Amino acid sequence: MPFLSSTSSVAEDYNEMDFQFVQYVPIEDAPAYIKVNDNLVTFDLPLTRLAEFLSCKELSNLAIMHRVTIRRKDNMKVLSSKFEGHECKVCPKYVSLFMACNADGI
Ligand SMILES: [Zn+2]
Repeated sequence: MPFLSSTSSVAEDYNEMDFQFVQYVPIEDAPAYIKVNDNLVTFDLPLTRLAEFLSCKELSNLAIMHRVTIRRKDNMKVLSSKFEGHECKVCPKYVSLFMACNADGI
């Protein structure tokens, strides 16, 4: 995984893991989440990749957060395309939290 930005106790096994998106959190909050659940790992995903995991509403919130201009009628595809090549001051302050699951879903 090229976007692994930090390691936790499960990171060595990540090739055999599936990851489930949990939350997009401020980078300074991430250790607190990982402390209570060591199956969590952080990824520094480009927003276009992150968009694949979000609902339309979450994507809209993300757009607002990053001052990306959207219109109410924009659909998922349009919304996620707005993050193409996006960079701003907010980007490096947030990471995506993922839950590591075994490949068989346990
Ligand atoms: Zn941004």
